[in-house]
Amino acid sequence: MTDTASPAYELTHHSYDVVVVGAGGSGLRATLGMAEQGLKTACISKVFPTRSHTVAAQGGIAASLGNMGPDSWQWHMYDTVKGSDWLGDTDAMEYLAREAPKAVYELEHYGVPFSRTEDGKIYQRPFGGHTTEYGEGPPVQRTCAAADRTGHAILHTLYGQSLKNDAEFFIEYFATDLLMNEAGECVGVVAWKLDDGTMHVFHAKMTVLATGGYGRAYFSATSAHTCTGDGGGMVARAGLPLQDMEFVQFHPTGIYGSGCLITEGARGEGGYLTNSEGERFMERYAPTYKDLASRDVVSRCMTMEIREGRGVGPDGDHIHLHLNHLPPETLAERLPGISESARIFAGVDLTKEPIPVLPTVHYNMGGIPTNYWGEVLNPTKKDPDAIVPGLMAVGEAGCASVHGANRLGSNSLIDLVVFGRAAAIKAAEVVDANAAVPTAPQAAIDKALDRFDAIRYADGGTPTAELRLEMQKTMQQDAAVFRTDKTLAEGLEKMKEVAGKLDDIKVTDRSLIWNSDLMETLELTNLMPNALATIAGAEARKESRGAHAHEDYPDRDDEKWRVHTIAHVDGAKVDLEYRPVHLDPLVKHEDGGIDLDKIKPKARVY
Ligand SMILES: Cc1cc2nc3c(=O)[nH]c(=O)nc-3n(C[C@H](O)[C@H](O)[C@H](O)COP(=O)(O)OP(=O)(O)OC[C@H]3O[C@@H](n4cnc5c(N)ncnc54)[C@H](O)[C@@H]3O)c2cc1C
Repeated sequence: MTDTASPAYELTHHSYDVVVVGAGGSGLRATLGMAEQGLKTACISKVFPTRSHTVAAQGGIAASLGNMGPDSWQWHMYDTVKGSDWLGDTDAMEYLAREAPKAVYELEHYGVPFSRTEDGKIYQRPFGGHTTEYGEGPPVQRTCAAADRTGHAILHTLYGQSLKNDAEFFIEYFATDLLMNEAGECVGVVAWKLDDGTMHVFHAKMTVLATGGYGRAYFSATSAHTCTGDGGGMVARAGLPLQDMEFVQFHPTGIYGSGCLITEGARGEGGYLTNSEGERFMERYAPTYKDLASRDVVSRCMTMEIREGRGVGPDGDHIHLHLNHLPPETLAERLPGISESARIFAGVDLTKEPIPVLPTVHYNMGGIPTNYWGEVLNPTKKDPDAIVPGLMAVGEAGCASVHGANRLGSNSLIDLVVFGRAAAIKAAEVVDANAAVPTAPQAAIDKALDRFDAIRYADGGTPTAELRLEMQKTMQQDAAVFRTDKTLAEGLEKMKEVAGKLDDIKVTDRSLIWNSDLMETLELTNLMPNALATIAGAEARKESRGAHAHEDYPDRDDEKWRVHTIAHVDGAKVDLEYRPVHLDPLVKHEDGGIDLDKIKPKARVY
């Protein structure tokens, strides 16, 4: 159906039970699940589905299958709780750990080509922070892998399965804004078709945001250039909040210079870090798990070594990762992709020399607040768990919250499939496939088109690339691994100034077809609220927890700060509130749930 309701843009209307925005691991798992349940489902993606950032995931996906030694969902849950530095929601973490094996076997049956053990089981490798016996035993082999191309394998399989189940794909469509009705329900999205410049309205009973992270708010990130937090931007513009944004994960081993990732699987297979004295310094900081301590810990230790003058290289500003002691067969079989990355991006033959590495922005623990069914929350004082009807968020865009203040390696891929699947289960309950699709209010459509049009014709003095760089450098400088009252306060002021300059943005290209200038500007308007919420949340949080290591408050303060940050961003203004962490498990201990004594807060040492 086509009409010309808005004077400037001809609109094509589409109606679906469910519209999923994003075709990464979470979006595809949700799409597949919805389609399998018989819901009429559309999946919109700004890039071809198998080019989503999930394709780059190397190391693997965590689930307590116990293929390589004893393991249990309770141990996986304990490690996730501890990894989160006691900020994750107990019910969501329990759901993740319990459902993980099921979700992985489902992937296997869908056709994911996992690496195999001698006796034909799914191969599992050790990963940082994953242990046995509630952190008392040796590291566990829990991370299921398809060589070092696990995300690639999962994404291709899920795309094929979604097509098989008749999900409809709208590829290279850029979703610009959510459509909200007067009752505060989400009733769809507006999207711009990048290759022919047409505008589209998707009316839907349920909209699922699966738009990924916002790593590109920083100067150096392992994530794709498309990781611009579009879901968070849309949510903020709809007057809804973002949660725990101050927790940004720096991966210990980005290749120095390019930021390209060397998977933690490299240390899982026996790799280790050294400083300029050739010392394996992690033994000093984390005597038990050494190089396999959790990411925030390893990144902080590396930064400490560099700050204390023990970095490697002419400027003493990075660290060495050694794999050259491992048998070449292991490297060829288990880590073929990173052998290639090391050669291309560092000019290093990793069978002979160490790789130069540096902590690099990798993952956003924060995002759009949801419950463990993926339903988006709009917390109020009276009901901190109030949901937004018609809206879900999954994957890195969402915050369930299972990763709390720090995510364990290989816990994201499992989060994508467990919660993508959960969202589909919930949608089958709450979406009536026989009811008519609600029509989005014209006022909401006009508002979205007006914003699009204003940006298209923006004629200020600041080119997008210039402002984006200013934002990225500010975040890199002041919201990085090390944080102090001073750097955060200065950074926040600077970021407010930077965000203010969006009013002075300049777009040069006014066309509608393959206009990357316009697309990057729309992306910048999404990155900005994510970045602002990150630094404002960090400035306000006077403690150290997980990835938020504060030099002026080195200790975790559970009394005051075991709470989720809730940020409303409006232009350059950020309002912060707090919401309690869920402490109750899904199942009581006597009924087969976890022993709460085991996951009581304690000091986090590895
Ligand atoms: C290099 C790298 C390696 C990693 N390795 C691992 C690992 O081994 N194990 C692990 O557990 N985790 C790993 N992670 C983390 C994990 O891969 C990511 O968190 C996860 O893949 C994110 O998936 P997603 O579905 O949320 O989003 P993505 O895969 O980022 O996909 C986002 C989707 O949203 C779409 N989209 C975004 N905005 C719009 C818009 N405005 N309109 C339309 N479509 C839009 C995009 O087109 C895309 O399809 C890694 C991350 C990186 C960067």
